[in-house]
Amino acid sequence: MSANTFPFKNSFAGLPPAFYTHLMPTPLPAPYLVAVSPSAARLIGTDQSALALQDSVEVLVGNRVAEQSQPLAAVYSGHQFGVWAGQLGDGRAILLGEIDTAEGPVELQLKGAGMTPYSRMGDGRAVLRSSIREFLCSEAMHGLGIPTTRALSVVGSDHGVVRESIETAAVVVRMAPTFIRFGSFEHWYYNRKPDELKQLADYVIDRFYPELRAEENPYAALLEEVTRRTARMIAHWQAVGFMHGVMNTDNMSILGQTLDYGPFGFMEGFDANHICNHSDDRGRYSYANQPQIGHWNCYALAQALLPLIGEVELTQEALDIYQPEFAKQIDQLLHAKLGLTTVQDGDRELLDRLFAILQASHADFTIFFRRLSGLRAGGPEGDEPLRDLFIDRPAFDQWAESYRARLRAEDSSDSARKLAMDQVNPKYVLRNYMAQVAIEKAQNKDFSEVERLLALLERPFDEQPENEQYAGFPPDWSNQLSVSCSS
Ligand code: AMP
Ligand code: MG
Repeated sequence: MSANTFPFKNSFAGLPPAFYTHLMPTPLPAPYLVAVSPSAARLIGTDQSALALQDSVEVLVGNRVAEQSQPLAAVYSGHQFGVWAGQLGDGRAILLGEIDTAEGPVELQLKGAGMTPYSRMGDGRAVLRSSIREFLCSEAMHGLGIPTTRALSVVGSDHGVVRESIETAAVVVRMAPTFIRFGSFEHWYYNRKPDELKQLADYVIDRFYPELRAEENPYAALLEEVTRRTARMIAHWQAVGFMHGVMNTDNMSILGQTLDYGPFGFMEGFDANHICNHSDDRGRYSYANQPQIGHWNCYALAQALLPLIGEVELTQEALDIYQPEFAKQIDQLLHAKLGLTTVQDGDRELLDRLFAILQASHADFTIFFRRLSGLRAGGPEGDEPLRDLFIDRPAFDQWAESYRARLRAEDSSDSARKLAMDQVNPKYVLRNYMAQVAIEKAQNKDFSEVERLLALLERPFDEQPENEQYAGFPPDWSNQLSVSCSS
């Protein structure tokens, strides 16, 4: 099926006109397909070869509008870096419509398809570099089992786009049940439009949280459920060392999915205070700050929902589940990362000590946890690959002795534990240097590395002997890479 005949429905367009502006994407000259995610394509009932047809490429870049699509850009507002930013909106994203799938309706959205009424000072474009990063990371997060928007395709054009230097344009097609954000609610709250606020909340509840209708106060229940999902999502981020980089309220999905991949990063040498976004000079969105920022963002959503909930106390109760939910989830994830199947006194201390020695030696986060499954409960023979990751080896030895004692306290079997740990500690994550290599090749029209990384990251927990090089340390030059909000 060519993308031109996608069976689009247009639910969002059924909301009143105040919520969006209908418009056409702005064409890009001579578009070429850079990449397609086969699994994302399968989800919407199509495949790579259908999407590679020139007819489809024209739709995926926005040069042609599919027959049943009613394209639009949505309005929203938000807090950026903790400050109220007023109206933002889809400044370069255009919603095409939604397609029914086995997992429910999925919206397709072009990112980088030209100016909209919400573009402010921007040009409505996205560059190939950031489009490849968003594409690969969306699919990598999906491969890791972390709630996320998906990416269907990247289409490039030689059309020049001015950033710090002149780059070329690209369009990513993103997929999610909805792209409604915390900032979509804040928009109506701060503009004192209670009717629109209610319409939006009812739309979200009816479509995505229908079970909440039965609750006494569905709006409080919505806040509670979004708070819960947000806490869980961020616990997953922490557990794989993912840093989002721009956790503004306009980048927080109302479904608790990871949304808007810009200056993200995966932790390499462990530093809890690492800041992956070069533009975040005060470190608001550092690794260590992510959990509390997630809570702060839920407060911003709560403020917007308060007129609907009607009671401060109920609102506070919904927000109060954040910390226990986060603590429960991260505790489960960390127990699994250590291969522990029981909860025992002293586990918290064992974990705290682990993060302290990782921090002191800046040990590589992904490599450490992957190698940890090779540790033997019986004694230190075989510790070398792990021990080598630490500058302070005696500190590691001490910790390893405590860990071994803890494993023996639950009669842990080395082989069963290794199997289980290798299912939760990825061997492969999207390191910045990997994306960079793929980007530089793609800038020279060689898209093979994008394809290769996509296939690699779809199965991040599997041993892939032919891809062993991606499981190692990043090359020295990767220290020089800096990623910022410029995209
Ligand atoms: P972000 O930080 O990428 O989530 O973007 C924040 C806001 O800026 C959103 O409203 C975006 O649509 C808008 N924006 C970012 N880049 C551009 C661009 N190149 N052209 C127009 N709007 C943009
Ligand atoms: Mg955004």
